[in-house]
Amino acid sequence: METIIQKLFEYQNNQIYLKREDLIPFCFGGNKARKAKLFFEEIDSGNYDCIVTYGSSSSNHCRVIANMAAARKMPCYIISPLESSEPTFNSILMEMFHVKMKTVPVKDVHDAIQNTLKKLREQGARPYFIAGGGHGNLGTKAYVECYSEIKDYEIREKLHFEYVFHASGTGTTQAGLVSGKLLNQDDRTIIGISIARRNPYGGSVVEESILQYLQYCNCKISRKTIHENTIFVDDYISDGYGKSNAAVDKLIQKMMYKYGIPMDQTYVGKAFYGMLQYIEKEKISNKNILFLHTGGTPLFFDSIMTAEMERTK
Ligand SMILES: *Cc1c(COP(=O)(O)O)cnc(C)c1O
Repeated sequence: METIIQKLFEYQNNQIYLKREDLIPFCFGGNKARKAKLFFEEIDSGNYDCIVTYGSSSSNHCRVIANMAAARKMPCYIISPLESSEPTFNSILMEMFHVKMKTVPVKDVHDAIQNTLKKLREQGARPYFIAGGGHGNLGTKAYVECYSEIKDYEIREKLHFEYVFHASGTGTTQAGLVSGKLLNQDDRTIIGISIARRNPYGGSVVEESILQYLQYCNCKISRKTIHENTIFVDDYISDGYGKSNAAVDKLIQKMMYKYGIPMDQTYVGKAFYGMLQYIEKEKISNKNILFLHTGGTPLFFDSIMTAEMERTK
């Protein structure tokens, strides 16, 4: 499932490249599609007959999982927080896939998941549970595999990416990339631009995921080394999850007009903006820099529809 890498432009004497995870050929792609593929390999080879997961109405993860479940005619139960339940293109797609959505106040999400699993098991069903965002060792593994693709590209094209940037949310994508780097003992800097979480919490979740993954594949790398290689930048969050700002919106417009590349406000646009700012601030130059486009195309359409409704109000 190798995704393409394209050269974008020069920025402060750096060559900026884009790896198009948004073009993974399933349900508008994105990093959730790469993770979901591994979850469903486990589901298909195991003894399961329904899926339970959670996420908001704007969740890219829930959209992809719902589609993969629908394709197998497997019931898909989604627990969703009431606080973010407004309709979006992702939630419209989830409905199209006939998910069984249970909306509860965010404080009750944990209990609702446990209750749903318990009830299903009492009824004799065999549910497979997937953590929100595809968090967990399989999700991490998906991005260790993506890291290998990056290395393959470097060998083929005879170049080296000194930096890899991407949007970091639950931290699973970053955990996979950093694990890949540590396992290969490579020399490069991987930078997760946080889209919501603050440090020290945000960074520590990534480190914990790396630690868990390395234990799971029996690799001994010290906590200190993991800590030194986990760069989680929380300077470009704006007003928090899903909140954009005028500079990010302007960049998103430019990327669509000039390059035909959709970037959403919640993840990719925000992180891409953060990366450009970071390059400037840290005076990075004469480097090959790879940005991972992690998807979110339905969210891109949400934002242009909202803007259009504002304009014609
Ligand atoms: C979920 C998501 C992310 C963040 O990925 P994590 O593995 O949760 O850090 C980034 N970009 C898009 C488009 C996403 O949907």
